[in-house]
Amino acid sequence: MLSSILSKSKCAECKFCCVFRRQSRWETPLFTKETAAALSEKYKNAKFRQVGDMLTIDIDGEYKTDDPEEEAACFFLDGRKGCMLSDGEKPLDCKIWPLRIMNKGDKTVIALTPTCPEINKLPLETVRELVESGLGKVIEEEAVKNPDMVKEYREGFPVLSELDQQII
Ligand code: SF4
Ligand code: SF4
Repeated sequence: MLSSILSKSKCAECKFCCVFRRQSRWETPLFTKETAAALSEKYKNAKFRQVGDMLTIDIDGEYKTDDPEEEAACFFLDGRKGCMLSDGEKPLDCKIWPLRIMNKGDKTVIALTPTCPEINKLPLETVRELVESGLGKVIEEEAVKNPDMVKEYREGFPVLSELDQQII
């Protein structure tokens, strides 16, 4: 979804958003129940935990220390090839990353995670234009169906657009 501004080859080299520090587990992607059930059948090592009506990867058992900076990879990351999931299996959270839909006060907004090295090379206006040209609407529609996708706003995440409705 962000392929017009993010190069696949750069992402394949980086993989930052498929590896989670212990303190960043709130960022692990959410899957629908149906997709998580299908993936559990296909990938026997994958573990999930419930988040509201959705599921996310349960990587708690992958950390070997209590260090909040320790990293653990998503079960679906191949170290050489990148994400092993098909387009149909990949959750929207991953397709839209580093964009996030968040509740900020009494508003629902689309914000930018500030840690993607490639997006950070672009003017914020370029990313905002992409959101305003239709991607924001796609994210909103999906979040209305799956409100667990909406995270609490975090300081330091630039806001790209405000929705007309609040999704709770
Ligand atoms: S952090 Fe950014 S550049 Fe790195 S893999 Fe994720 S989307 Fe691509
Ligand atoms: S599902 Fe794929 S894109 Fe998403 S975090 Fe896991 S490996 Fe990365």
